[in-house]
Amino acid sequence: MCIFCKILKGEIPNKTILEDENFLAFEDINPQAKIHILIIPKIHIDSFDVMAPKIMGEMTSFIQKVASIVDVKNDGYRLITNIGNNGGQEVKHIHFHLLGGEKLGTIL
Ligand code: 5GP
Ligand code: ZN
Repeated sequence: MCIFCKILKGEIPNKTILEDENFLAFEDINPQAKIHILIIPKIHIDSFDVMAPKIMGEMTSFIQKVASIVDVKNDGYRLITNIGNNGGQEVKHIHFHLLGGEKLGTIL
């Protein structure tokens, strides 16, 4: 079982920001910005590359709620999903990184 599925089962503790029947948002254990949240679906999906558009649509609304809760909507934020080895994906359970709370470095 992957590490995020273990978090979803409660086997590994997390600092939850928001949860509903389909998604969980929690603080990254190794934050790369003042605000660094991970957002995952409750079903195991390997990566964005194999995620159904319907789930992506539902996840969009959930991520927007998370952005509201952590109060980054006015100042802006960044969403990242790493895909596969070249994308630098370490945990093979689709997740979005929500980064904010400060001016972020430019990567593109
Ligand atoms: P990836 O490199 O796969 O895009 O990102 C994986 C992220 O998961 C990393 O930012 C890492 O800090 C985070 N992470 C790994 N294990 C845990 C954990 O047990 N708890 C939490 N909260 N974050 C984790
Ligand atoms: Zn999983």
